[in-house]
Amino acid sequence: MIQKPSELLKKFDFYPKKSLGQNFLYDSVWINRIVTAAEISGADVVLEIGPGSGSLTTALSSVARKVIAVEIDNRLIPILNDVFSENRNVTIVSGDILDYEPHKLMTQYDVSNFMVVANIPYYITGQIIRHLFQSSMLPRSITMSVQKEVAERMIATPGQMNLLAVSAQFYSDVKIVDYIPAGAFYPVPAVDSALVRLDVFDPANHVHADSSLFFQIVRAGFGQKRKQLQNALSNGLRINKEHTLNALANIGLDSRCRAQALTMQDWADLTDMLRDAVTTEKN
Ligand code: SAM
Repeated sequence: MIQKPSELLKKFDFYPKKSLGQNFLYDSVWINRIVTAAEISGADVVLEIGPGSGSLTTALSSVARKVIAVEIDNRLIPILNDVFSENRNVTIVSGDILDYEPHKLMTQYDVSNFMVVANIPYYITGQIIRHLFQSSMLPRSITMSVQKEVAERMIATPGQMNLLAVSAQFYSDVKIVDYIPAGAFYPVPAVDSALVRLDVFDPANHVHADSSLFFQIVRAGFGQKRKQLQNALSNGLRINKEHTLNALANIGLDSRCRAQALTMQDWADLTDMLRDAVTTEKN
């Protein structure tokens, strides 16, 4: 049975910290919605980031084989240990998720495959996504609540793309599953939320095999807001403008286009076209 965070936290005389993104999920309808969207089977191991008072953790542990939950706030550790004292498929880990390499965390518990399900602290959304995607052991999927505007940026289409959209779509197939009203959280946050699911690609299916070069070019492309791509790339990569203009022309892009207009395939083609110029510059 899921205990209301407000009651549980009162019992432990706990006050939420805004600086740690502490807006606890209050409404069991939404907790169950997250669990359903993640499609967890009894064989699955779930990594939860920020279990808080354990409301989502309780629901996850009723369907998963194991839940490994990493919580940064020391004040919550005794509460979580109390809530899950009888629950052997929940392991509470005290610490900052950004300090834990997912593969180290998983191998420590003899796990070879996992998914992430979480109501994450929004103040580090980008860092969490980068941390998970750059891990040597990728999750199969990531189902999490994020700020509504961030969710909408993740699924952006050419014309509206940004660095977050390109990163999310490079590593995964992203969907907005639902929108979560602010009233489902305690305390009620100032922002609206969305539930997203990212089905993580096998690296063999990435749009480009050299992710490091790909993102070097993408970061340069988005590096100078409002600049035409030809200038952003030439300045950001320190390469001759001639190379940039030739590369854009070769893949059929207008020389005046901007980074937000490109498709994922355009970025992949541009990576191939600029590879020599970028590598020569480095040497
Ligand atoms: N999962 C709980 C729920 O749904 O009610 C709590 C969600 S609350 C939005 C975010 C949680 O992440 C808080 O418990 C907060 O202390 C924790 N947190 C914040 N930064 C963290 C970090 N870097 N690593 C691990 N946990 C963190």
